[in-house]
Amino acid sequence: MSQRKKSEYLRKIPKVDELLGAEEVRRLLNFHPKEVVLEGIRRGLDRLRREILTAEKAQDFKEEIFSISHLLPLFEEEIKRQVTPHLRRAINATGVVVHTNLGRSPLGERALKHLVEVSRGYSNLEYDLAKGGRGTRYFHVEEILLRLSGAEAGIVVNNNAGAVLLVLNTLAAGKEVIVSRGELVEIGGAFRIPDVMSRSGAILKEVGTTNRTHLRDYEEAIGEDTALLLKVHTSNYRVVGFTSEVTLEELVQLGKRHNLPVMNDLGSGCFVDLSSYGLEKEPTVQDAIKAGADVVTFSGDKLLGGPQAGIILGKRGLIDKIKINPLNRALRIDKLTLAALEATLICYLSEGEAVREVPTLRMLTVPLEHLRRRARRLARLLERGTESAEIEIVRENSQVGGGALPLQELPTWAISVKPHGAPVEALEAELRNLDPPIIARISNDRLILDLRTIQDDEFKAITQGLTQALKQISD
Ligand SMILES: *Cc1c(COP(=O)(O)O)cnc(C)c1O
Repeated sequence: MSQRKKSEYLRKIPKVDELLGAEEVRRLLNFHPKEVVLEGIRRGLDRLRREILTAEKAQDFKEEIFSISHLLPLFEEEIKRQVTPHLRRAINATGVVVHTNLGRSPLGERALKHLVEVSRGYSNLEYDLAKGGRGTRYFHVEEILLRLSGAEAGIVVNNNAGAVLLVLNTLAAGKEVIVSRGELVEIGGAFRIPDVMSRSGAILKEVGTTNRTHLRDYEEAIGEDTALLLKVHTSNYRVVGFTSEVTLEELVQLGKRHNLPVMNDLGSGCFVDLSSYGLEKEPTVQDAIKAGADVVTFSGDKLLGGPQAGIILGKRGLIDKIKINPLNRALRIDKLTLAALEATLICYLSEGEAVREVPTLRMLTVPLEHLRRRARRLARLLERGTESAEIEIVRENSQVGGGALPLQELPTWAISVKPHGAPVEALEAELRNLDPPIIARISNDRLILDLRTIQDDEFKAITQGLTQALKQISD
């Protein structure tokens, strides 16, 4: 399109003031603040301007693009974009239970209720109700953590990476920490044991080899500068084959002989022994405390199924030192987290209750037959609105995720969707575009919706979403 023609079109774009004269546009002010409406109009007009500037041919345009009825939906869309939070709920149909990219563990009802209750008004966050004066925020969860774990003392911080950093800094800054070469873990998102170690001011002393580390390797490495023996749970990988590792018990014995504390970073700590539910054995927090570890650290939002937090449990003397480290102030846990964490921990007072009430545990332990029934139910709903795709119920495998039980096979039931006449990638992308977005994976040219991570109250959104997405891609 010629420059002259373009300028002519650009001149026809209505002015904001003119637009505000129109009844339909003014009505937007009844629903949204003026600042948002004006910005929405500006952005809508910008889009129109860009459309004109990038157009190839003049006939791409009709006079009606300047009409209110054409512009109004544009403005409404730009208004909605401003007031809709960017961070929002998503439907996890991937079957990865502790999905780090999708917010790890969803919170249970009890945690949600308490979180809203505590944050709606003021709270006794740092107020001792018995004394009528200053209290401490750590107090709220310490007692229950000790009851559940058998530890002497505990403290919670922002996340487990912070917990590891804080413990190393408190107990070993400027000194050596001995770790097996088989346990120099990297977790997604740039958490690496050697890097955290160096930031803490502690000096990493690696011992053994990748596949085999013996007690004598630790023993020979102990010297004047040794401050701590560290065992890290290889959360997201396994060393298999010709291997040998030193158990926590053996390390504790060694620590005792040399008067050195032993720390165990469990990564994804859990209070429930998942092997009673047919999953692989993961060390529980109680196991680590019972084995005599002086300090144990783990996450709040991995297998525990609570909010993001780092939990530190162990011997009273060491925890007291950790509490007064100024770094603790920088890693301080927030009241929303504390509220959700305490309510989650209350579920663990009974294992049966924890498995029913904590969504992460519930999803991991749900019987296969239950998943199959739910798959059938969802498939029936889906078959109604989706003639343009082939819907089947299929056996699949879910994953634990969150750097826990990396080798665990979790048989599951899923819905497989094969769109007719459109690539499955288009369907996958379209589902991500919905509100709420539906995140699914592709396998063998089919879209897989895993029932394990789909909640019952999401069936409706999935049914509507899939119908809409299939329509979009076939248009
Ligand atoms: C996940 C993990 C961490 C980090 O925990 P965040 O809660 O993500 O900060 C540290 N150590 C191990 C072994 C882990 O698995």
